[in-house]
Amino acid sequence: MQCHRAWPFTDQNCRSFVIHSSSLSVWHQFRAIDCLSQREGRIRTCPSATFRLELRALKQTEILAVGAGPAGLTAGIYAARSGHKAILLEKSFAGGQMALTSEVENYPGFSEPVNGMQLAQTMEQQATRFGCEMLNGEATGITSSAGGFEVATTAGPVTAAAVVVCSGVKPKLLGAPGETELTGRGVSYCAVCDGPLFKGREVAVIGGGDSALDEAIYLSNIASRVHVIHRRDEFRACKFAQQRLRERDNIVYHLSCVVDSFNGSKRLENLTVRNLKDNSTSVLPVAGAFVYVGWQPNTGWCSNLVALDDSGNVKTDDRLRTSVPGIFAAGDVRNTHLRQVATAVGDGALAAMSAHDFLIGKR
Ligand code: NAP
Repeated sequence: MQCHRAWPFTDQNCRSFVIHSSSLSVWHQFRAIDCLSQREGRIRTCPSATFRLELRALKQTEILAVGAGPAGLTAGIYAARSGHKAILLEKSFAGGQMALTSEVENYPGFSEPVNGMQLAQTMEQQATRFGCEMLNGEATGITSSAGGFEVATTAGPVTAAAVVVCSGVKPKLLGAPGETELTGRGVSYCAVCDGPLFKGREVAVIGGGDSALDEAIYLSNIASRVHVIHRRDEFRACKFAQQRLRERDNIVYHLSCVVDSFNGSKRLENLTVRNLKDNSTSVLPVAGAFVYVGWQPNTGWCSNLVALDDSGNVKTDDRLRTSVPGIFAAGDVRNTHLRQVATAVGDGALAAMSAHDFLIGKR
């Protein structure tokens, strides 16, 4: 027992503990008591005190990739296969946006469309086969530290000699009244997750890019009718997606139209849609509305260090180096002209090898 500051709180009651990490904080109500360096032992507490033992696992690695989308998974594969100790941090599940895509049909190597979640699981197995460690947690901050960086995560701090930012993007909100209030109650940003809830009912998809059209096609297999609402007369999506959409007979187009409001008390009941050409409004009775109007990068945890462009994307050079030596970026989170699984995979490989070069140069 090496804790001196804890003694004023303690009595003769002892509790046993075992720890598997390099440091441990003991909390007494809202006060942290820095005390123990032993790996197991007993702590004395006063009879009424409620102590919370908080394990702050200080993990150390050579290359830390933050975000396990296709960019991060590939970075993990290349980093581990190059012989580095590599950790891949992911807050939810492997695959990122790719895992939420019903059918990936333009990633080379698959003659038929492949399910995004299946592709993600295969990539994860490949990364772990080379020794990449998957860590479940969310990055909340990053600081420079001796010999590299310390990334604060919900799974405890991780120190790394090099970091690859692959934290991807999150959906942009439309910003119309009722959207936030009805999110999860009819308004959704993920057709694969929520589409099956609307089997046989009418739904709307808002947006005219590849995401909107791909997911409208997916939803047309489930819903009775899919209303596609787009603010212009022309879709941004590729011609192939437009052609596939035209082949469906349960799609209704609302071009040059915007959503003025999402309406409903407990759940989404309808949308108020405005035609931009004649300013007329109509009410569309849909049970579900899927918003696909673009994405914004997840950079809140690292924006204190790395430079971002005007849209909030991480700035990178041709070797995917950021403004900070030792930090690299890959995939949708960076300033790229094409956001595809194929480009994310290429980015992940290049960023990991640039991190490798950086570490070799340092040694
Ligand atoms: P996107 O290409 O940026 O398209 C966003 C769509 O939302 C556009 O049609 C845009 O309209 C519309 N929009 C934006 N803000 C709006 C607002 N405030 N109100 C109404 N509409 C608004 O986004 P994405 O479709 O998610 O695609 C992102 C990237 O991923 C693209 O590079 C895309 O090619 C790629 N992607 C590829 C595939 C595939 O290859 N199968 C699948 C999904 C995504 P405007 O057109 O008028 O600007």
